[in-house]
Amino acid sequence: MLKLWNTLHRALEEFKPIKGKNVGLYTCGPTVYNPATIGNLRTYVFEDILKRTLVSLGYKVHHVMNITDVGHLVGDGDSGEDKVEKEAAKQGKDAWDIAKMYERMFDKDMMRLNIITPVGKDRPHATGYIKQQIALVEKLEDKGLTYRISDGIYFDTTKFDGYGKLSGQRIGDKQAGIRIELNREKKHPTDFALWKFSPADAVRQMEWNSPWGRGFPGWHVECSAMAEELLGQPFDIHCGGVDHIAVHHENEIAQSEAAYGKPLANYWVHGEFLLVDGGRMGKSEGNAYLLDDLIAKKFDPLAYRFYCLGTHYRSKLNFTWEGLEGAQNALRKLQVEARRLPSAKAATKGEWIEKFTSAMSDDLNSSEALAVVWEMLKSKTDEKEKASNLLAMDEVLGLGLAGILGKPIQAPGEIVAIAEERQLARESKDWKKSDELRDKIAAKGWLIEDGKNGGYDLQPLS
Ligand code: AMP
Ligand code: ZN
Repeated sequence: MLKLWNTLHRALEEFKPIKGKNVGLYTCGPTVYNPATIGNLRTYVFEDILKRTLVSLGYKVHHVMNITDVGHLVGDGDSGEDKVEKEAAKQGKDAWDIAKMYERMFDKDMMRLNIITPVGKDRPHATGYIKQQIALVEKLEDKGLTYRISDGIYFDTTKFDGYGKLSGQRIGDKQAGIRIELNREKKHPTDFALWKFSPADAVRQMEWNSPWGRGFPGWHVECSAMAEELLGQPFDIHCGGVDHIAVHHENEIAQSEAAYGKPLANYWVHGEFLLVDGGRMGKSEGNAYLLDDLIAKKFDPLAYRFYCLGTHYRSKLNFTWEGLEGAQNALRKLQVEARRLPSAKAATKGEWIEKFTSAMSDDLNSSEALAVVWEMLKSKTDEKEKASNLLAMDEVLGLGLAGILGKPIQAPGEIVAIAEERQLARESKDWKKSDELRDKIAAKGWLIEDGKNGGYDLQPLS
């Protein structure tokens, strides 16, 4: 039985899909105007873990993730420039090329983190769904839920009874902590744009005709329109980072539920933020690290994935370089184990699989699941069984162990010679020399791990 924390009811709930073993999953994808930060990437890792867990439990997951290539305005509100167009102007490039370039970068990050992302029609682009977004706004207009002001068509949030149910705030409460820009023409601060008009004095690169004039869709409309078309409404699980709860997801719910008279999604699951040095991560703080920054410091991208797994997705994770180093060392140890074990087929049942599954089923308790992995590896379980278990567990953890299981690496003679010298130092309890030789081995790109019976293992560092 899978239990998930449902933001909508602020409760841990047993997951019950709408259609048997089929699960409809929608995750809000990237706005493609800059490279993803490791904060953004934490959210995608969490969503990947959720999806892999569902698959391991025998569900067939239909995952849709959008690409926001238009309509997301600076400051997340309804005024300010379009993020993609702004970046295009800054770089002197075409907005469509900017969107494509950052989507490619996003894919590269996904691959390096072993995140399985949707492809083809399950990865819709906002610019590819203009017709559906206009149709949704028309539906809301027909129901008398919209109004027009000088810069666009807006949703009147007071006309949707359930407004605020996701974040637990009433309309009047929405002030502190939420960036709502001042637009004096809006009837209520929580009202939001459904369709924005192109500025009268400028030509946008991305703009379309609509019943209300030339312009572009508001940010929230895309997810509502795409989810309805690709997954149907209601679908099972909707995910994103916690920053989306109060505005983006609240607005998705308002539009979709008001338009179709039924829930948008049954379970709303949100990932907590990654902090850096205990505080917000941002460009102005100079700590909006990218995966490339980690790689430049010789970290394996999968060490970052491992790092994320060590903390529950609903807890804040404070990123530190030392923490990442610890994760990398632990991952290396796991890789050493995987190489040492015989090759095998993934197990489907057994005591350890049950333990592991029960941790993951408890609201994706990945740190507990990792503890089960270590416990299993240290146990007296038969080596072949260990290999089978590890393989099955890695299908959920996604640490790339399948590719190296049962494939020991032969270190070059020069490295083995230093390792042997270090063995002698250890035998004579010369720890200082032993440490020096370990550093010498590391400087040559190898990691030496001491084995249980006085032996050692050598593993390349990258
Ligand atoms: P964006 O491209 O800005 O829409 O963000 C992509 C995803 O990253 C969204 O699901 C956000 O909620 C999430 N996100 C943004 N900042 C962080 C952070 N510091 N930690 C974790 N997730 C984040
Ligand atoms: Zn969304």
